[in-house]
Amino acid sequence: MNYRSTVGHAPATDLAGALRAGLAPDGGLYVPDHLPSIAVETLADSTDLSETATTLLAPFFLGSELEDQLPEICREALDLPLPLVEFEPGRAWILELFHGPTAAFKDFAARFLAACMARLRAESDPAQTVLVATSGDTGGAVAAAFHRRPGFRVVILYPDGKVSARQAHQLGAFGDNVHTYRVKGNFDDCQRLVKHALNDQDLAHKMALTSANSISIGRLLPQISYYAHASIALQVKCHEKVDVIVPTGNLGNALACILAREMGLPIGEIVLATNANPTLEEYFSGRDYRGRAGIETLANAMDVGDPSNFERLAWFYRDRDLRSAGISAISVDDDAIGHCIRRVYAQSDMAICPHTACAIEALYHRRQAGNDNPHLVAATAHPAKFENVVEPLVGRTVVPPPALDELLQRPSRATELAPSFQSLGTALLALD
Ligand SMILES: *Cc1c(COP(=O)(O)O)cnc(C)c1O
Repeated sequence: MNYRSTVGHAPATDLAGALRAGLAPDGGLYVPDHLPSIAVETLADSTDLSETATTLLAPFFLGSELEDQLPEICREALDLPLPLVEFEPGRAWILELFHGPTAAFKDFAARFLAACMARLRAESDPAQTVLVATSGDTGGAVAAAFHRRPGFRVVILYPDGKVSARQAHQLGAFGDNVHTYRVKGNFDDCQRLVKHALNDQDLAHKMALTSANSISIGRLLPQISYYAHASIALQVKCHEKVDVIVPTGNLGNALACILAREMGLPIGEIVLATNANPTLEEYFSGRDYRGRAGIETLANAMDVGDPSNFERLAWFYRDRDLRSAGISAISVDDDAIGHCIRRVYAQSDMAICPHTACAIEALYHRRQAGNDNPHLVAATAHPAKFENVVEPLVGRTVVPPPALDELLQRPSRATELAPSFQSLGTALLALD
């Protein structure tokens, strides 16, 4: 399988080349040059996610040095619980993607990427520094995935005071090869610092810097597999395709669902559920695409005004009309998120996180409009991770799942960092 850049100037490469580079040298994003189609029967006997992923992802690994190691990578990275919880009898199910070590769906992708990168590393390579800016969830997932891995260290930058208390504790609780900084600024400041550092040849070389952000093709691929696994399980139950609703920020998770459908899996319409950031809803309702700065909402892991994977989505649909492709978008404001969390709790005794609430709210809208299709709703984080939002709305404490609880019981440490490149450079060079 060849990978090319969405910009179109960089030479094609195999998967290993695309993983090592992260971003293509012409500034574009790597995309597989074609999408393999999959006969659903070949997946019907898979008993678990890692088996599904091994079959589904094999064509993407063809011809790369990781080809033979795919089964092992899937077993190591994707061996996580994946419950499918009935939400409306026989009509809607919630795919709980938050049973990994850091209680958000990003664990699947971060663990897969880490498993690949560890196998691409030569024994003699200098230790790599994975530098990651986070608004809360990515940092933890990447830290957990690389924690105590020989040959890697992780540096996390998060905006001080802008993540939940539990997220902050979690981010500082790893220790060992994970170094956590709370930046006196916002998420954009953290991202700017990471970009600046990666672009600084001297620092990037000295620290063997690499990133693990959501534009890596190694994070996109594994996410296709859980939509494949769930849509096949639901086809057995309801004998039709399911419509899928995905909480959406940078469009990584939802793009994976779109690719699953393109590959032939039994998925009908796909709904991108965003928070109050209106870029995608505007675009899919017929207006021009207009990227802008993100606005802060209760679903803060989706505070994105210019989704980075839109470029990939547009590339896949370059010869077709993306606005008539069975994809729609709905923007859900903070009031509606709050109402939805209360309503779901009152009706089903189930606490949901603010991101998942955007998707459930989209389901309610569709039902109200008379849509009776079977639906799959992706749940992206455990509600206990957003206790500051969820607990006052449901009126009780939300107990963290065991893996998150284990981190919360550990001591936590984050070093304060001024939002300047110089401070970051000094901090990085002082690491042992
Ligand atoms: C990152 C994140 C999202 C957004 O996912 P994208 O792939 O960026 O669209 C949604 N919900 C939660 C809980 C997240 O952490």
